[in-house]
Amino acid sequence: MSAIRASVIDGKAVAGGVRERVRSEVAELVSATGMQPGLATVLVGDDPASHIYVRRKREACAEAGIASFHRELDGATAQDELAQLLVRLNGDPKVHGVLLQLPVPEQIDADAMTALIDPAKDVDGLTPVNAGRLMKGQPGLVPCTPAGVIELLRAAGTELRGAEAVVVGRSDLVGRPLAALLVGEDATVTTCHSRTRDLAAVCRRADVLVAAAGRPGLIDGDMVREGATVIDVGTNRTDAGLVGDVDFESVAARARAITPVPGGVGPMTIAMLLRNTLLAARGLAG
Ligand code: NAP
Repeated sequence: MSAIRASVIDGKAVAGGVRERVRSEVAELVSATGMQPGLATVLVGDDPASHIYVRRKREACAEAGIASFHRELDGATAQDELAQLLVRLNGDPKVHGVLLQLPVPEQIDADAMTALIDPAKDVDGLTPVNAGRLMKGQPGLVPCTPAGVIELLRAAGTELRGAEAVVVGRSDLVGRPLAALLVGEDATVTTCHSRTRDLAAVCRRADVLVAAAGRPGLIDGDMVREGATVIDVGTNRTDAGLVGDVDFESVAARARAITPVPGGVGPMTIAMLLRNTLLAARGLAG
């Protein structure tokens, strides 16, 4: 058995700090302007995991002093009806963030519905406008999980300027926006995916390695450079419980710092959603 040498990055603690800062800044905003930030969550259908995620988001809002407005639609809802709801929420002055919980049922085009959300209220950062701003290095609302990864890297004291960063995964939700954020932090970034020819060789170059593939145990110690910082975004439900994409034991024996699963990236996502809702409210306040 290899010894753990890496420091373990405590995502719960970092997320707790972000949530506490959001709570106090929300209180300041309310006392200065009378405006309470509000998040609308929209859930279509009865996917049990989505119900749990939305409930947690609403509980976190309550704790931060953010109002939450929940809309639940039947799984057979027509796309037009959902579109009308999103447009109404765009126009509601009490709502500063609009979140369409994904996945949506198959009769609904998730990309088309996401694109309807007002970019100023797009707290998931998934509209083409905010994705474009991120690619151009312009300010905008950034997807929560990648933003959380950057917070964790900062908390771990990882130098990003000039660092070799490798991101495994190129989804709209995680890999692509994270690569853009890392470029914005002056890292030299390589994005890997299922067609990457020699994943192990590319990963071994990384000072900062982020795994976001959704493949349990994809990254093992042989793929990691001594002293690298390794962030595991993977969240995979297996017979052995919740596991990441990183083989923790063999990687922790070589890395400088590593996130656990659970308790690493997971808690950051909701914390960054709260922060995005506060930023959206401030932006709309002018
Ligand atoms: P996704 O849309 O399925 O994308 C997975 C990406 O990984 C794709 O780009 C895919 O390549 C790549 N990939 C798959 N197998 C690979 C392999 N063997 N080698 C190299 N690349 C491979 O998933 P996602 O939404 O980005 O999520 C990724 C993981 O993060 C999942 O486990 C998800 O549950 C987790 N996640 C966690 C949080 C959190 O809050 N902690 C939030 C979001 C996601 P191709 O593009 O070539 O198919």
